[in-house]
Amino acid sequence: LGAVGHAFDGMLDEVVRSQALLREAEARYADIVQNAVEGIYQTSRDGKYLMANPSLARIYGYDTPDDLIEDQDTAVKLYVDPAERAEFVRRVDEAGVLTNFETQMRRKDGGVIWVTHNARRVRDADGRFAYYEGTVQDITERKHVEQFKSDFVSFATHQMRTPLSGLKWLLELAGDVEGVPADARSYIADARQSAERLVRLVNDLLAASRLEGGRITIKGENVDLAALTRSVVAELAPQARDKSQKVTVCGEGDITPVIADPQLIRQALLNLTSNAVKYTPAGGAISIRMQNRNGEVAWSVDDTGIGIPAADQPRLFGKFFRAGNVFAVETEGTGLGLYLVRLIIQRSGGHVWCESQEGKGSTFTLTLPAATLVPA
Ligand code: ADP
Repeated sequence: LGAVGHAFDGMLDEVVRSQALLREAEARYADIVQNAVEGIYQTSRDGKYLMANPSLARIYGYDTPDDLIEDQDTAVKLYVDPAERAEFVRRVDEAGVLTNFETQMRRKDGGVIWVTHNARRVRDADGRFAYYEGTVQDITERKHVEQFKSDFVSFATHQMRTPLSGLKWLLELAGDVEGVPADARSYIADARQSAERLVRLVNDLLAASRLEGGRITIKGENVDLAALTRSVVAELAPQARDKSQKVTVCGEGDITPVIADPQLIRQALLNLTSNAVKYTPAGGAISIRMQNRNGEVAWSVDDTGIGIPAADQPRLFGKFFRAGNVFAVETEGTGLGLYLVRLIIQRSGGHVWCESQEGKGSTFTLTLPAATLVPA
């Protein structure tokens, strides 16, 4: 009996020791949660708070987590737009985790703040939904700086437009004056080209800042991609002719209209097609293809040009980005064209991507939602 008693005492010691370790680990975990700069929470499926840390309370303007939980029994009430919470939950459910979900929330004092959420769905041992767990960071200041930057660019470029157009117009007039000496005429022609480049740059910057800020209302009307393509090809015909390039268009006949803003879509098609002309050497071929594809229309432009190095492809649609191989063939460019194309197509509910092999050619494809066909 004595031996059994000893063994029992030993087991008891072990249990006590592991309980102490567990308490220590819990205390350490609680300490991290209590002192984290980020807001940390757990909620039920319908948004009821199961846990909140002091930072979360502070971000939303409350003294303590309990004050927050008592006042806002559900996190849904904190969203400026409750539909955003539904979208947030939908995306967490879809992928299991969600990072950098930016949205606006309302503080206790009514003030509106910008936050970014990182969240995941947690399951219990049986694999059933248990709760959502997430962190919140206040990004209001960053958002204000971004807004200021975008407002500034928008204001400055808008102010530049009028004097620039005047300059361009006067240079056109000067070019037509008779009796101007040959060298002066060539200076005027150069100045006019520079003014035209500036006008293009200013227009692109203005369009980018408006699209980024969501200040452009995207019109949704039935758009005929075939007609837009014809007008783009006609506009670029002189450049293509100068370079003896063959431009072909196929699939125009049976294309469904898309729902989009015709002016913006024309800009996107023009940017992609003019790039194909620009980055394809003399004698090359450019082919444009259109195709209906379950509920969407796909439009692509293929060229036999210089292509894009594989390493540069992921950054191609970024702002001001130009690939490393362009400078040998084409010095003029801002790296805004594809950035605008991506903004326009994304805001129109479509996708755009590029497939390319350096030295062989490139294919840029975009898709847009088809206008629903009403059966006749
Ligand atoms: P830009 O033409 O003014 O430089 P874009 O934004 O239109 O700016 O294009 C970004 C970059 O993508 C270009 O500088 C070029 O490196 C690459 N690119 C775009 N289209 C093509 C193409 N058809 N063939 C090869 N490179 C291209």
